[in-house]
Amino acid sequence: VTILVRAGFALPNAQAGCVTDFAVAIDGSRIIAAGAFREIRAAFPGADVSGGPDLVMLPAMCDSHDHGRGLGTTPLGIPDDILEVWLVQLAQQPRLDPYLLALFDGLRLVRSGVSTVLHSHNLRDVDGIESEISDTLRGYRDAGIRVVFDLPITDQNMLAYDEDAFRASLPAELNLAPRQYMDRQRYFDVCASLARQYAEPGDRMVTICVGPSGPQWASDELMQECVAFAQSHHLRMHVHALETWYQREYAFRQWRTSLLAHLDAIGLLGPWLTLAHAIWLEPSDYALLADRGVGVAHNPSSNLRLRSGVADVPRLLAEGVSVGIGLDGHTLDEDQDMLREVRLAWTLANRPGASAPNVGVHQALEMATRSGFGITLGPDVPLGRLEPGYLADLVLVEPGQGIDDWSIGLSGAPQPVELLPALLVRGASRRHVRDVMVGGRWIVREHRSTCVDEHDIADRLRENLARQANASRSSDAARVAELARALYTQWGDPPARTW
Ligand SMILES: [Zn+2]
Repeated sequence: VTILVRAGFALPNAQAGCVTDFAVAIDGSRIIAAGAFREIRAAFPGADVSGGPDLVMLPAMCDSHDHGRGLGTTPLGIPDDILEVWLVQLAQQPRLDPYLLALFDGLRLVRSGVSTVLHSHNLRDVDGIESEISDTLRGYRDAGIRVVFDLPITDQNMLAYDEDAFRASLPAELNLAPRQYMDRQRYFDVCASLARQYAEPGDRMVTICVGPSGPQWASDELMQECVAFAQSHHLRMHVHALETWYQREYAFRQWRTSLLAHLDAIGLLGPWLTLAHAIWLEPSDYALLADRGVGVAHNPSSNLRLRSGVADVPRLLAEGVSVGIGLDGHTLDEDQDMLREVRLAWTLANRPGASAPNVGVHQALEMATRSGFGITLGPDVPLGRLEPGYLADLVLVEPGQGIDDWSIGLSGAPQPVELLPALLVRGASRRHVRDVMVGGRWIVREHRSTCVDEHDIADRLRENLARQANASRSSDAARVAELARALYTQWGDPPARTW
């Protein structure tokens, strides 16, 4: 059965700009025709029509780096801090139901117009890994969202970048959990089994990717094994890199060269790889990333909240690096609002100085759509545009009412199609996302999930959290966090710079 979706304005291809009176025809999970509503309707006269002339249609967006944290971290009492101190506290988070966390997070994402999330899994229970993964995947599936499931691995330095020395320096009375790294063989067995299970692209609701968590947390040998494994299983790799200045310092101390030069020397860089964050790059790294075809997932909110810095997105774009946008479970308003993140990415991409390049709203939208899907699922994936042959993942945004109407400026605009993208990205938020379709199926209609009862899920998560409240939290974690701060204080501070 063919259905039509129409809108008064649309951005079928972020780079090509805005069009009016647009419609797509959808058969099954795919777009089979796109263009002027009148022509599409004439071509499919019997088809049902959804949407309307007062709405704006966009390709659904891709959250190119996240962790399925559900509630974020403020509700768990984990204060924002520099990454290295924050991670010590993060390890103390309560063990909430992985199904509810993924479902809650998935609902927040789809409600903000995201159809696909890269979930980098923070494993809580090594012994229960299989059920933890299947519960997580089930949560996303029940939210109706596509997931790219990344299982990271580490084998060093999780507590501090010089873990042995740091542990040796800790007061004896501190009661720290012993170091626990996942067995390497077990890791590759689990990944191989997942890769087999989800080998066929099929409806593309689940895709597997692998990778070391980050170069300071994984030995060279382990990183190389991950590359070999990814290559032999035709999987992409996802790695945190150069999120903080301390990670850059670690690389220079460890290898006496820049991190990316080192990664290139050991064969890690290639078009199969996406780096999350990539803030503290050296001048020569930009061309290197472009040359090797490495993608970058930019996480503007998280980078501000964890005091990491601001990635030089204009330079990445100017060099031809593909950039996507990730929420990293750490958005400004703790609400996983993708439209607000695009707004922040756009704003921060325009830097101080008369000679700074101007990054336009279309480039920001491209990062959230086509380019984001490219670095997350591969450059050939048919997602991120509203064109024939593409999967039918789309969003209908409403202008809002009264003082919540972001579109008021259109009424005075000489060229509404030229003003609309900026008005939308400057003013629209999740509350304006009315309907979301994933693979030809409406998963959000009239601001509500069609898949589950959102209030019921929120209640269940609240109960789950309440049951954890009395679970003992190690008070030693706060002390270790302060000792970690003292350690990095000795390393010094990042150089002052504008963003
Ligand atoms: Zn992350």
